Amino acid sequence: MSDGCVFCRIVARESPADVVYEDDQVLAFKDLYPKAPIHVLIVPKRHIESLATVEPQDAEVLGHCLLVARVLGEQTGYAERGFRVSCNTGPEGGQVVYHLHLHFTAGRRR
Ligand code: AMP
Ligand code: ZN
Repeated sequence: MSDGCVFCRIVARESPADVVYEDDQVLAFKDLYPKAPIHVLIVPKRHIESLATVEPQDAEVLGHCLLVARVLGEQTGYAERGFRVSCNTGPEGGQVVYHLHLHFTAGRRR
C-alpha cells in the first residue's frame, strides 16, 4: 500500500469502486469517467508505479493482467469483436494515476 495512492485505497476497499473482477493478484473495476461503452481498469493489487519503473519481478503480475484482459473480453462479450488494452505511461504518455493499470476498452471502433 502506497500512502495517498487512489488505486491502493480501492484495492484495500477503503474507497468505493465498481469491481468487475478480482483474484489474489489483480482487481479490475469500471473507470469512473468511461471513454468507451466498456471501460475497465485492470490493476495489480501490489503498488507498481508505472511501466517506466517495472522490474523483472513484476513480469508475472503484468502477464497476469493480460490474462485478466482475456477474461474481461469473454465476460463482456467482446472477445470476438475485439477490445483494446492500453497503458498510459509517464507525463507525456497521459498517465494521471501513478499506480500501474491497464485500460480495457470495448464497444467503439476507435
Ligand atoms: P491514466 O490517465 O492512465 O492514469 O488513467 C487514470 C484513469 O483512472 C482515468 O481514466 C480516470 O477516469 C480513472 N480514475 C481515476 N480515479 C478513479 C476512481 N476513483 N475510480 C475509477 N476510476 C478512476
Ligand atoms: Zn497504489
